[in-house]
Amino acid sequence: MVETALSVKDIHKSFGGVEVLKGISFEARKGDVISLIGSSGSGKSTLLRCINYLETPDRGEISVAGEVIKTSPSQGGKMHATDPRQLEHIRTRLGMVFQGFNLWSHRTILENIIEGPIHVLGVSRKEAIAEAETLMEKVGITAKRDQYPMQLSGGQQQRAAIARALAMKPEVMLFDEPTSALDPELVNEVLQVIKKLAEEGRTMVMVTHEMALARDISSEVIFLHKGLVEERGAPGNVMKDPQSARLRQFLQLA
Ligand code: ADP
Ligand code: MG
Repeated sequence: MVETALSVKDIHKSFGGVEVLKGISFEARKGDVISLIGSSGSGKSTLLRCINYLETPDRGEISVAGEVIKTSPSQGGKMHATDPRQLEHIRTRLGMVFQGFNLWSHRTILENIIEGPIHVLGVSRKEAIAEAETLMEKVGITAKRDQYPMQLSGGQQQRAAIARALAMKPEVMLFDEPTSALDPELVNEVLQVIKKLAEEGRTMVMVTHEMALARDISSEVIFLHKGLVEERGAPGNVMKDPQSARLRQFLQLA
């Protein structure tokens, strides 16, 4: 039996009385790539942020590698995570890469990558550097090792951000439109890295507008519309033969 890497159960989230997630569930087994697609405002980023509790869901359950994030009972008031140390630990199991390149600007690329392993995982500096070198090679930024983020192109920065996330050896990688802030000519180099990770069997949940990527590497594509799953399934079905009129329209526009 394939292990479950991430389980997302019945996630609800409102902002100011507006429910933007209305009960979303999915599961990623080890090696799965789940793609979240949908138009702007459909709740994709909020869902991703609820997975690592950057936003606290109002209702529902998240578990990573079988470990449920502990929360207070949800009757009445809002739910909250009750065990900060557990939450911190689970967050280290989730590697997040955002749209913007959120590297530490005053640190070199190498320092960006080894910071977490040394200070959070307690890896020796020597070991962290060795692992960082392997990762920089993998994402093609070895030559940038001692440069600062500002000296890199957007595509290189995003690849460095991926290397930094991978250095924590996460159970699941979460991507929120990792290429949408890039100049068009830099998109492909980042897509190639993501593809490579999929081929290696990394478990990933990604929000993307790159339909070709979603079609090529996803185990499951989930189409969100107004906080609900409108359609889901294997990319061969969902993307080639969409059943919902909304999805058909979305795919034409995408
Ligand atoms: P997507 O990523 O699919 O474009 P989002 O998850 O960012 O959608 O947003 C879904 C809805 O929730 C939008 O209407 C957005 O304005 C709203 N929203 C997201 N984050 C917040 C927030 N922190 N406070 C208030 N409203 C928010
Ligand atoms: Mg978004």
